[in-house]
Amino acid sequence: MGMIELKGVHKSFGGTNVIPKVDLAIQNGEFVVFVGPSGCGKSTLLRLIAGLEDTTSGHITIDGRDVTGEPPAKRGLAMVFQSYALYPHMSVYKNIAFPLKMAGIDPAEIDRKVKAAAATLNLTSYLERRPGQLSGGQRQRVAIGRAIVRQPKAFLFDEPLSNLDASLRGTMRLEISELHHQLKTTMIYVTHDQVEAMTMADKIVVLNAGNIEQVGSPMELYRNPRNLFVAGFIGSPR
Ligand code: ADP
Ligand code: MG
Repeated sequence: MGMIELKGVHKSFGGTNVIPKVDLAIQNGEFVVFVGPSGCGKSTLLRLIAGLEDTTSGHITIDGRDVTGEPPAKRGLAMVFQSYALYPHMSVYKNIAFPLKMAGIDPAEIDRKVKAAAATLNLTSYLERRPGQLSGGQRQRVAIGRAIVRQPKAFLFDEPLSNLDASLRGTMRLEISELHHQLKTTMIYVTHDQVEAMTMADKIVVLNAGNIEQVGSPMELYRNPRNLFVAGFIGSPR
């Protein structure tokens, strides 16, 4: 049984059928990448898993529990937003502590968790700075720190690196992969960038107009793309 399972998940906005019907199982600890062209429904699918959108029909289970219709806070997942979602007037410490404070955790435990996350992300000497005094990569790490302190069952990333320049993107790709090795927590990562998908994923889910074209490891998709769409998108030689 998958840790996160989508069964016949369908989503339409008004009359627009954005996700016709998706079945997918994500295993515990996997790094799963949703890849596909702009507008194919990657963010919608991630937001359905997060609970930020309601399914039109179908079911989502997490650890065997049906969470369909449950609000995001009850699902135990953490969405990592792009770094510009940080609070500019708050220190790095306060930005990372924010979700714990909102959850009513006591200050001593908040302090311990914030410092542990900062150590994991090499942010220890930046805790008193404001986001505006950090580099783009450091800001992105703060956004990840805000997710880590909640010890989520899974991290959900929606194109977290798309605002960064190419060389920083490469560095952050490695950092997120290392974080996955270190934490061994399930990660679902949305991107339209084939290179990110091929280098980071244990499992790639190729989306096209809201449908799953193929699911497989980077090597499986490269060697044996099911159709021309997958071949073209993954850049395999077929
Ligand atoms: P992607 O993340 O792959 O670029 P999205 O999931 O953002 O794609 O969007 C998929 C489709 O759903 C697009 O056609 C988009 O216009 C539409 N869509 C997304 N959110 C909404 C919404 N809240 N209302 C109406 N249409 C939406
Ligand atoms: Mg998107």
